[in-house]
Amino acid sequence: MLRIPKGELPTQTQNYLDGQQEKIDALLDYPARVKAGKALWDSKTNTKKGKERFDEVRAALARLCPGARRCHYCEDSAADEIEHLWPKNFYPDRVFRWGNYLYACGPCNGSSKGDRFAVFDEREERVDLVRGKNDPVVAPPAGDTVFVDPRREDPMDYLDLDLDTGIFIPRSPKGSRNYLRAKYTIEVLKLNTRDYLKHARRSAYRSYLDSLRNGSLIS
Ligand SMILES: [Zn+2]
Repeated sequence: MLRIPKGELPTQTQNYLDGQQEKIDALLDYPARVKAGKALWDSKTNTKKGKERFDEVRAALARLCPGARRCHYCEDSAADEIEHLWPKNFYPDRVFRWGNYLYACGPCNGSSKGDRFAVFDEREERVDLVRGKNDPVVAPPAGDTVFVDPRREDPMDYLDLDLDTGIFIPRSPKGSRNYLRAKYTIEVLKLNTRDYLKHARRSAYRSYLDSLRNGSLIS
């Protein structure tokens, strides 16, 4: 997991997203904004204009990938889904915000993160956001993200990679805020429990060492 460059959208695409977001933000109550956010998102490519603008969003996200369309989270599988870091079901004010988008693979987005999210409350306790099918639609408590945000933070400030095992470990002392953030992010994304990810990291490290040994990295 690496820091993702800020990146920019073409002006017409940015304006289009701003216009969609304004429609949601103009609604007075929170449940109405959640409903409108989901509806607008689900229908975003139903028009020619929406399709064109979202092709541009995808192209811009692909340019931010570490390697050819590699997932912004796991860096292994091919990214093909627009992921909302702050889930749209809880944060309708971020549905059409460029800075809230990541390009993720299915295993990271659909099977791992999905709507999972947590914030620190005023006592610095982790609050997991959960909303059952029949639960009232209420706004989550205010607070900063527990999940590390690679669009505005460097994940390497939080995570160390053990090169021999291919496992990520929190950099900060156990129990600290940054330790909790790293641990939560590793767990939500299943970064250490998907064997193929650990294998890919170990193998990348071994090829790097081989290249150093045979001098092919030295010109
Ligand atoms: Zn991934």
